[in-house]
Amino acid sequence: MKVLVINAGSSSLKYQLLDPATQEVLAQGLCERIGIDGRLTHKVPATGGKFEFEIAMPTHAEAIQAVLDALTNPEHGVIQSMSEIDAVGHRVVHGGEKFASSVLITDEVLAAIEECVPLAPLHNPANITGIKACQSVMPGVPMVAVFDTAFHQTMPAHSYIYALPYEYYEKDKVRRYGFHGTSHKYVAGRAAAMLGKPLEELKIVTCHLGNGSSVTAVDGGKSVDTSMGFTPLAGLPMGTRSGDLDAGILEFLMNKYGYDIKEMLNILNKKSGVLGISGVSSDFRDLDAAAEQGNGRAALAVEAFNYSVKKLIGAYAAAMGGVDAIVFTAGVGENSASNRLAIASGLEFMGVKMDAEANNTRGKEAVISAPDSKVKVLLIPTNEELMIAQDTAAIVGK
Ligand code: ADP
Repeated sequence: MKVLVINAGSSSLKYQLLDPATQEVLAQGLCERIGIDGRLTHKVPATGGKFEFEIAMPTHAEAIQAVLDALTNPEHGVIQSMSEIDAVGHRVVHGGEKFASSVLITDEVLAAIEECVPLAPLHNPANITGIKACQSVMPGVPMVAVFDTAFHQTMPAHSYIYALPYEYYEKDKVRRYGFHGTSHKYVAGRAAAMLGKPLEELKIVTCHLGNGSSVTAVDGGKSVDTSMGFTPLAGLPMGTRSGDLDAGILEFLMNKYGYDIKEMLNILNKKSGVLGISGVSSDFRDLDAAAEQGNGRAALAVEAFNYSVKKLIGAYAAAMGGVDAIVFTAGVGENSASNRLAIASGLEFMGVKMDAEANNTRGKEAVISAPDSKVKVLLIPTNEELMIAQDTAAIVGK
């Protein structure tokens, strides 16, 4: 089976054609500047080929058509015709309380995704545009929606409820939803496979640490708490996002500087996090380099980030009544030995013992705790596309 995975943004669209059974990636790429002019970068892993094209993309439909043309091109294509694509899996950011798992896209499902637009006004409209564009260019091909929020729908009410007047939950659906669900689910499954134990018997803390970061408590394969909230602004300090803060700060700064709510949120989303603390960069590689040169604020930003992750690991161990494994994934989690070591050291009291040498690795699955560590610490590269393709195959195969 061949599945085309689509992740549509407002002016960009990532794609991957893969076989979910063999996990082989046949081709992958990116359409950029949709609605402006249009650029396609297309890669074929088997040959190492990389191709770049300027193609007019007034809308997402032309972008999808350009992807199909690239996939079927006699020179750099990987399939003979579109009919070889058995299904399309779409990443959709917000499924609200309506979707606790991936689902075959029907008219009713599309309408329900549209109803979630107020919850994710920046992301869901782009995802919907991607779905409609695919439907117009690939009529009759079954399509599946895979939601960032779905995995977290198993959270109990005491985890997701905010201590606000209850009517805001009942009427307006204001609650913790959580994001990065596809990634947390994927790495939790891989952790069980690596440990050779059933997922249902494991308590795992999964740390997705990238440009956006979140930590999830996965008990018996189910998300029982997660650090992102009603929006992806909550939880850890991130590249440029503040994470959790005292809501009273908003009033204080808005009064003092005359910001309106839009300006305030722009600061919280784009100018805060480790960028805000350091004044240097949102990228941990730059922060490490600056800290090494003696930049105290860069060092502080990294310390504050690591400390927040460590605190959540402790909190989630308490929430689950124990922990069998801690997983690191995404850009920082997969690549930064120093962040992982700083986060997981000092947790010996709860049975976590790192192996500095084993930790000195990147980008591939590895056990990075000491052999006698009660809690296993694992490095697991995330693979959201594979998870989307596997969910899609499972639903379409039914
Ligand atoms: P996104 O959330 O955008 O998907 P990624 O998961 O790709 O982001 O993570 C990107 C981040 O990973 C970069 O901003 C950078 O901070 C971090 N990163 C990548 N490589 C390294 C590295 N070698 N050391 C430290 N951090 C790294």
